[in-house]
Amino acid sequence: MGEELTADYAMTDDEPYEMTCRCGRSSCRGTITGFDWRKPEIQAKYAGYFSWFIQRRIDQLSKPALPRNGRRADR
Ligand SMILES: [Zn+2]
Repeated sequence: MGEELTADYAMTDDEPYEMTCRCGRSSCRGTITGFDWRKPEIQAKYAGYFSWFIQRRIDQLSKPALPRNGRRADR
C-alpha cells in the first residue's frame, strides 16, 4: 500500500510541496521543497545528479554560458 506514496514523491519534481528531511547530515537544508532545484547553490551542489526532466528545466533557465568558475555556497 505504501508504494504509491514513493511514486508520488518521484513525480512531484516541480510542485509546491514541502517536507522535513531527517537525514541528519550537517549539510542538510532541513526542509525539502519541490523548487529546491531552482536554487543556484543546489544546482551547483548536485550538478550531474538531477533527473533528466529537472536538468532540462535547469538548462532552460540557465544562460547558454554556464558558470564554471567553481563558486560554492557551502556554509
Ligand atoms: Zn536531509
